[in-house]
Amino acid sequence: MPQILQLEAHIADLIAAGEVVERPASVVKELVENAIDAGAAKVTVEIQNGGMSLIRVTDDGCGIAAEDAETAFLRHATSKIKNQYDLEAIGTLGFRGEALAAIAAVARVELLTRPPEAALGTSLSVTGGVVQGREEAGCPAGSTMVVRDLFFNTPARLKFMKKDAAEGASVFAAVQRLALSHPEVGITFLRDGKREMQTPGSGALRDAVYSVLGRDLALGLMEVDAAFDGDMHVSGFVSVPTCCRGTRGYQHFFVNGRHVKSPTMTAALEEAYSNQKMVGKFPACVLHLSVRPNAVDVNVHPAKTEVKFGADRDVFRAVYGAVKQALEGDNTRPAAVLTGAGAKPPTQDSVTPNQIPVSLYRKAETVPQELPLHDIDLTVPIQREAVPARVVAEKPAEIRPAPETRLAEVREAARQEESPPAPPVREECPWRLVGEVLHTYIIVEQGETILLIDKHAAHERMHFDRMQAQDYTPMMQGLLAPAVLTLPAEAGTALLQNGALLERFGFAIEEFGGGSILVRGAPADLDLADVEDTLAGIAAAILETGTARPDAPRDALLHTMACKAAIKAGQKNAPEELRRVAEAVLSGRVRYCPHGRPVAIELTKGQLERQFKRT
Ligand code: ADP
Ligand code: MG
Repeated sequence: MPQILQLEAHIADLIAAGEVVERPASVVKELVENAIDAGAAKVTVEIQNGGMSLIRVTDDGCGIAAEDAETAFLRHATSKIKNQYDLEAIGTLGFRGEALAAIAAVARVELLTRPPEAALGTSLSVTGGVVQGREEAGCPAGSTMVVRDLFFNTPARLKFMKKDAAEGASVFAAVQRLALSHPEVGITFLRDGKREMQTPGSGALRDAVYSVLGRDLALGLMEVDAAFDGDMHVSGFVSVPTCCRGTRGYQHFFVNGRHVKSPTMTAALEEAYSNQKMVGKFPACVLHLSVRPNAVDVNVHPAKTEVKFGADRDVFRAVYGAVKQALEGDNTRPAAVLTGAGAKPPTQDSVTPNQIPVSLYRKAETVPQELPLHDIDLTVPIQREAVPARVVAEKPAEIRPAPETRLAEVREAARQEESPPAPPVREECPWRLVGEVLHTYIIVEQGETILLIDKHAAHERMHFDRMQAQDYTPMMQGLLAPAVLTLPAEAGTALLQNGALLERFGFAIEEFGGGSILVRGAPADLDLADVEDTLAGIAAAILETGTARPDAPRDALLHTMACKAAIKAGQKNAPEELRRVAEAVLSGRVRYCPHGRPVAIELTKGQLERQFKRT
């Protein structure tokens, strides 16, 4: 039988280090978190060779007293908690007292530190966990940690490192997340001597977002700010529906200043965009949730990137409610972009040659502030007032089912409680219907603005909203000769399984045997010629969206019906019809089609004057 031995301390440290220090990015994260916990106003991060040969983090925080400098490198040595009760309400980023010990176990570390009140500072070097030297030193107030030759004594770990460029990129990403999580700290990042990022540390998230994500992304964001019962506050930025992205990579969630991955918050964000964004696109966000420290457990993950909420349901509702409110309150319209002189650059979808030179960006009129770091003419539109929260937090449920069920349930609850939004009111200003071009775009003049309205997109949204209303009762028209619809077996089944739903929206269908379906009635506002197509479309949409969400078949039906019943591009319409559509758009009720495309874009007198060189 093999003998059981307690490992020597330095081997135990190496093992423990593996949990905290995976790669240069994790070292940087721990060191910057320490600097933030130390109350630093400015933090500079420098790396060389992706952080493998050098990481240097300099801060102007509280420093470490001479007598504590060595202790800081011991395992479980921390100044941030003292007893188990402190663990229940953690207010700092660190608390385990492991990071410095872990880092020093696998690298050559030098610390130079001085508390502002001390005349002299301390210089300490630790290699592979062993103190090499310590002396008094004159140095600026604050701390500088230098980490060289990471993993020099753990060749197995070293082998797993990627190329310097890749390690450097994940360090950068970690620094960006830290900068977004603490806008009150000015963070500078230098890679191989080159400055790649600098946040001003103004305390305004907007400034940090702009410095970190850059102008292009920032322009497509709108502000979120809502407080909820139970001391929850959701603030930050989310993308306008037309600026959603192809991946979730632009979603950043923070809880009490800590970057986290949270399925609950992701689901809540995306749910708020349902029926407003394109399928396969994901909203971008920088969303901060503040909760009471005891409402969240941050001690559930080795890298502290996951948290456990006391009440997932409340978190879902808060995030969902805050984002939804911001989306509903946003009454800006995308502006037409004229290329050439005086034109503003488009944001993300660059204009291809020969294409109508129209792309989307937030219009200049919504720009109230200048940002300090760059000279820009446009910024993120601001929602001016935080409207009182509609979503009311409830007491946490006592028994918690499995997470997936819980999420589905929470979503459902949030949806049901959702009260019909008050339409955002646009300033009353007389307008004139000029006409229609290309049998597709309605032209309206309002003040010094020209509006181009996509009649199909707008009408589609009008239908969609009408059908979604609680009191919607469609007229069913019986078919004189019932139609027989032959569909692929699974499509037929999808329809029959949703017979009640279809009936609620004006269809009467029956099984006809042999995989066919008999259609006896259809909604009155649907062209008879479109009935078959619509049912086939609904079946396809149901199959495509799956049944993961309880509302998926209903949404599929609404989308298909709205599209089919709407007036089409290229179609001739009576002026009264066009006027009704224009009215709905101008009232502000209709802003995006159910797929997230804009229904109207604006062209201003100023833009035209610049283009014609009149100014
Ligand atoms: P933790 O952050 O979990 O407390 P660490 O190992 O990261 O553990 O740090 C140990 C202690 O060293 C901290 O609790 C703090 O007192 C001190 N310390 C580390 N970095 C700094 C810093 N940059 N400025 C001031 N004190 C620091
Ligand atoms: Mg720490």
